[in-house]
Amino acid sequence: MWAQTWDNIYNMMTPFPDKPNLDVTDEMVKQGYNATHMFRVAEEFFTSLGLEKMPDEFWDESMLVKPEGREVVCHPYAMDFMNRKDFRIKQCTAVTMEQLFVVHHEMGHIQYYLQYKDQPVGYRDGANPGFHEAIGDVLSLSVSTPKHLQTIHLLDSVTNDIETDTNYLLKMALERIAFLPFGYLIDQWRWGVFSGRTPPDRYNAEWWYLRTKYQGICPPTRRTEEHFDAGAKYHIPGNTPYIR
Ligand SMILES: [Zn+2]
Repeated sequence: MWAQTWDNIYNMMTPFPDKPNLDVTDEMVKQGYNATHMFRVAEEFFTSLGLEKMPDEFWDESMLVKPEGREVVCHPYAMDFMNRKDFRIKQCTAVTMEQLFVVHHEMGHIQYYLQYKDQPVGYRDGANPGFHEAIGDVLSLSVSTPKHLQTIHLLDSVTNDIETDTNYLLKMALERIAFLPFGYLIDQWRWGVFSGRTPPDRYNAEWWYLRTKYQGICPPTRRTEEHFDAGAKYHIPGNTPYIR
């Protein structure tokens, strides 16, 4: 909806489609992956680097699948309950490769919580807000390589050649480079609102001005100040900083 990452169109534009498919979603489904298994795969990767296992409370109390019969906010979230033992993730996990990386991202937050849980409360936070977002993502960089996907049996065969590398780099660019203008504009918009430079009767116009300027995209239908499109992005009404 926000065009914030573009890796979902990778399969439509693979430079060398005869090479092994680096989007392993289909293979995950075929192998019967479910949410718990995805979190176990992530945990195994963290512990293989000498980092912490998820505590029992994590497995007992987290919400890893969308519950039936009640409304929940599905935006993935990792919570530190600040009692040194209770850490949970809330995620409506779908079995896709993209979500497997989200699982690593969220578990990265928990890992960071675990690492500083015995510090005085004032120090139980990231060195700066960017660090917290980076831990799981840094690890995901290694998880998503063709070599590692082969190690965990999600890719059949990987040959070390320039065509496979090109496929991989394009997929990575769709995910990461395409994200940068989006990541930049969210707080550009918000700081404009906070400073008063963007008055309420320009909220939506300014949103689409930035979207066009930085992301190079335009809305599929006519937008007016009757609409509040920024409000559809979780972090805006949720008051979560984004530049991190
Ligand atoms: Zn995060």
